[in-house]
Amino acid sequence: MGKLSIEQLREGVRGAVTTPDDDAYDQARKVHNAMIDKRPAAVVHCANAGDVMAAVGFARENELDLAVRGGGHSVPGFGTCDGGVVADLSGMRGVRVDPVRRTARAEGGATWGDFNAATHAFGLATTGGIISTTGVGGLTLGGGIGYLARGLGLSCDNLISADVVTADGRLLIASEEENDDLFWALRGGGGNFGAVTSFEFRLSPVKDVYGGPILYELEDAATVLRSFAEYIADAPEELGGFPAFQLAPPLPFIPENRHGDPFVLVVACWAGPLEEGERALQAFHDFAPVVAEHVGPMPYPALNSAFDALVPPGLQHYWKANFVTELSDAAIAAHVEYGPRLPAVNSTVHIYPINGACHRVAPQATAFAYRDCSFAPVIAGMWPDPSANEANIAWVRDYYEATAPHSEEGGYINFMAADDQDRIRANYKGNYDRLVEVKRKYDPGNVFHLNQNIAP
Ligand code: FAD
Repeated sequence: MGKLSIEQLREGVRGAVTTPDDDAYDQARKVHNAMIDKRPAAVVHCANAGDVMAAVGFARENELDLAVRGGGHSVPGFGTCDGGVVADLSGMRGVRVDPVRRTARAEGGATWGDFNAATHAFGLATTGGIISTTGVGGLTLGGGIGYLARGLGLSCDNLISADVVTADGRLLIASEEENDDLFWALRGGGGNFGAVTSFEFRLSPVKDVYGGPILYELEDAATVLRSFAEYIADAPEELGGFPAFQLAPPLPFIPENRHGDPFVLVVACWAGPLEEGERALQAFHDFAPVVAEHVGPMPYPALNSAFDALVPPGLQHYWKANFVTELSDAAIAAHVEYGPRLPAVNSTVHIYPINGACHRVAPQATAFAYRDCSFAPVIAGMWPDPSANEANIAWVRDYYEATAPHSEEGGYINFMAADDQDRIRANYKGNYDRLVEVKRKYDPGNVFHLNQNIAP
């Protein structure tokens, strides 16, 4: 296409193009993590796949950095850049459900809230994240951990096909049948291989679930973590959820005099028959005395958005994570020491189980390599006040240092911080070399480099 001016780009796309001169610029350059303060040359508000192709071509031909933005939740802020082009897909959020084939097609900028609302109407769902405002795009391309993963596998395990704009500006279909090397790489390799304009997912019957948070005293933290690890290893696969540390938010189900206190908790999600829900959660009630809980039957999208208010846009974010093969006593001791020191009510530590259907996919079958680990813990520092950055970042780093000796070297790419670039090879583990091969084929110039980057 050759070099184009911004004016020519504007004329050539259906969506708006926002530049520093526009009133909408400050809003357009924002991502979820308010710590990220970048100033792109242009934000292309893509309206369709053609606009995505134009944005990719414009960045390539003008040798500008290209950021692809789906839900904008990347903690390192990969959905924006300084001086380059943002292909913002957040206006492309349509979700089409085929209830007969039990599939759904989501546009590249859809959130899990968009997705779940559309599929719930048909009593169907697939594994998505635990917050409804997170993008289907980034989450699925990195793997996708959520409430339904034990039974249904990761989000990427439910991907049937993807429409991908590659670095050379073509639109390719990636599936088991077409461009299967690309399809393999998209399932865990992140945004390295192209901009996905449409994701096709397999759906499963999930409508209402039985679940919610169960809070225990900190003195029971080690018992709760140990009991959870033992129980979840071979609990029925309809049972999802995770142990966590959290300061009690001011919610009516928590005694008022305990608001702001740190607790260990289990967030539960039973996706089997509702009438079995109470019994399915009994084991969690037996771990230790329960201080407060808010469990019961609810639509799956309600659980998926239950914690959204704790993570509004505009917070500072700093996260760290490792995979864990065995949640050892030493690892639990480190969690029990650092978990309760949460400096902000928005911060949290989630210890996501990886087992069941996630283990039935071989480590080489998709780019997501850590199929043999048992947990994906994340220390998610989130707080409103930038003047508190130092204390909050120190908590995340100290916590991470304490757990790292009891963890795998690599972590889940979607939980990595900006300063984790030296861990990339470990994060992709045994699949790294094959990912480099696919990268060389589809993006030899590394046009898509604002991600957990696999250098060609
Ligand atoms: P973006 O910032 O838009 O994108 C992230 C990366 O993916 C970028 O490199 C971007 O270029 C690429 N990308 C996004 N969309 C596309 C696309 N259509 N085509 C090509 N590349 C694309 N992860 C979980 O697994 N489970 C959870 O429950 C979970 N909860 C979270 C809750 C919060 C509040 C946050 C902030 C994150 C959470 N995450 C979770 C992590 C999440 O998976 C990553 O932050 C993910 O990258 C977000 O995707 P996004 O599309 O919202 O982000």
